[in-house]
Amino acid sequence: MTKEKELFRPRVPGRVGMYVCGVTTYDLSHIGHARVYVTFDVLYRFLKHQKYDVCYVRNFTDVDDKIIARANELGEDPLSLSSRYCDEFHSDMAYLQCLPPSVEPRVSNHMNQIIDMIKQILDNDCAYIIDGDVYFSVDKFPAYGRLSGRKLEDNRAGERVAVDSRKQNPADFALWKSAKDGEPYWESPWGPGRPGWHIECSAMSAAYLGHSFDIHGGGMDLVFPHHENEIAQSCAACSKSNIGYWIHNGFVTVNEEKMSKSLKNFFTIREVIELYHPLALRFFLIGTHYRSPINYSMTQLDIASDRLYYIYQTICDCEETFHQHHGNDLKDSLPQDTLQCIQKLHLDFESSMSDDLHTPVALASISEPLRIINDLLHTRKGRKQELRIESLSAMVKEIKNLLGILGLAPSNYSEVLQQLRERALRRVGLTEDELLLKIDERTTARKNKQYDKSDEIRKGLAAIGITLMDSHTGTTWKPTIPHDVHEHASAM
Ligand SMILES: [Zn+2]
Repeated sequence: MTKEKELFRPRVPGRVGMYVCGVTTYDLSHIGHARVYVTFDVLYRFLKHQKYDVCYVRNFTDVDDKIIARANELGEDPLSLSSRYCDEFHSDMAYLQCLPPSVEPRVSNHMNQIIDMIKQILDNDCAYIIDGDVYFSVDKFPAYGRLSGRKLEDNRAGERVAVDSRKQNPADFALWKSAKDGEPYWESPWGPGRPGWHIECSAMSAAYLGHSFDIHGGGMDLVFPHHENEIAQSCAACSKSNIGYWIHNGFVTVNEEKMSKSLKNFFTIREVIELYHPLALRFFLIGTHYRSPINYSMTQLDIASDRLYYIYQTICDCEETFHQHHGNDLKDSLPQDTLQCIQKLHLDFESSMSDDLHTPVALASISEPLRIINDLLHTRKGRKQELRIESLSAMVKEIKNLLGILGLAPSNYSEVLQQLRERALRRVGLTEDELLLKIDERTTARKNKQYDKSDEIRKGLAAIGITLMDSHTGTTWKPTIPHDVHEHASAM
């Protein structure tokens, strides 16, 4: 609201009430949605890590024009269609490691609260009834436009939709829509109908968090008109209504254009995670500060997958080393430089996350500790270091903790490595057996001193994103960033 960074002070010390606008359930979610819910999941996890008791409310818009239209197309009951897509959304959130919110209210279960709030707004003379519709009167709310910085005149000038001449002001918006033929409806004091979109969030946030609460969030596209209208409604229903902090995340763009359903330039989460691991998608999304735009491309996902592979491989290598040293007595002390490294990591991570959730800086803070771990694991000098296992164990423990706060800590790291390898093979259209055959072919060529041929195989694989690693025990492979990638997001 102030357009400035502010110190976070919750209304009740130690407790946070957070409401995030949810999806309209008529289709699969795209990665613009993934960005919103990953952003607020990181905030939710970080607040919990800071020992706040958080009540996180995220709604489902399960009553809406788009749902009704889609259901009619498919000859399905609108509520059963939306319930189906609520389930699909839950699966997407689980893939992306987003924690379930404390409450997930649905519009269809909150008609009483919605109708009560509309009554209140009418009683306070901030709305009017025409033929069974109820409209909010923006002229009754002088602060209208404060969040978005828009003035009512701007709206009128930019009006592209036909203006309903029954409205007192073209910017007035529907709180209740009277039922049309063949549409689902609920009884109300103004006749059968259903709520307008905006009122649901005012009513459901008040139902679970009260009229005043700490954080209200959503995508940047919701600032106007959705959140502006929410403020107007909530204040009209209860003059004490107040939101502590508004938080909005930036768009996902494709070729510098906003990804959206209406522009038809979107990728669903399902499409993307066929070829890239969901945690790589999550890593890509939090690799940019939440308020900045983020440009989607396969190259960026290749880079994110590669980075994630390196982090998880490092953790797995440590676990393997611990396994080999299992049963050895570990000392209860750490070298000074290890202690310093862990302290610095902790401080860098906490300070960047506390500074308006600077996730890219938080992610960067684990780079140096990972390099030190790899030195301890793989270099001659590192392997001789005193208290090596103790150092590795303490550093890995801290890194896993921090990854957990970002939602990047799976229960089984080696399983995710395997899944990352599978996705890489899927991207290049090879089975593991086909790849192993190529590796054998190269090994034979090398034995026969056909170095041109063996080089050609190695380079060919590197170009499509497969690196070969030779050691005395044989040749292994890992996924990497393809050499010949181009920005071809639209090719997917
Ligand atoms: Zn909302």
